[in-house]
Parts: sequence; structure tokens; C-alpha cells
Amino acid sequence: MHTCLWREGLHNISCCNRHLRFRPMGGGNGQKSKMARERAQEKTKAAKGSQLESNKKAMSIQCKVCMQTFMCTTTEVKCREHAESKHPKSDLYQCFPHLKP
Ligand SMILES: [Zn+2]
Repeated sequence: MHTCLWREGLHNISCCNRHLRFRPMGGGNGQKSKMARERAQEKTKAAKGSQLESNKKAMSIQCKVCMQTFMCTTTEVKCREHAESKHPKSDLYQCFPHLKP
């Protein structure tokens, strides 16, 4: 069975004659798809960057005693555990003032 690659934008001279008229001049199509690929890569890079940024933002709970950061989703129980194991001499609210009622 003959499979024409034109639909995938991979059409070349060795592909079926029926689609030769769609062949772009000077291989412009290849250039275009390469640019599109690069643009897509840039997009992914940007997405990754913003992901990192939001990860950083998510580390919004900080122990004021040892400056360790925690995800903003960290529960009070976990904070308490940290305070009790790392700073048994310090008050929980000294480590995490935001837990103060
Ligand atoms: Zn700490």
C-alpha cells in the first residue's frame, strides 16, 4: 500500500506524484516546521520555568528558627512535628508564627 506523507508535512519528491504540486518552493516547509518545533520547545521551556516559579512560591511556610521551607500545603501537624523534633527547646509558634491562633 502506498502511504503518502504529505499530510504529515513530510512530503518529498519521492512521495506520490499526486501531491507534488503541494511541494513548497525551496524547502520552505521544512524550515517552517523546524521553526514551529523550536517555538514549541520554547513554549515547553517557559512552562517549565513557570512551574519552577510556582514551586518556589508554594514553599511559603518557613521555620523561623532554622529557615527551612515547607510547602504551603504543609499541615499544622507536620509543622508541629518539625518543631518538636528539630527544636524541642523552642515554642511551636517561635518556629511557625503563622500558626498562632
Ligand atoms: Zn526548624
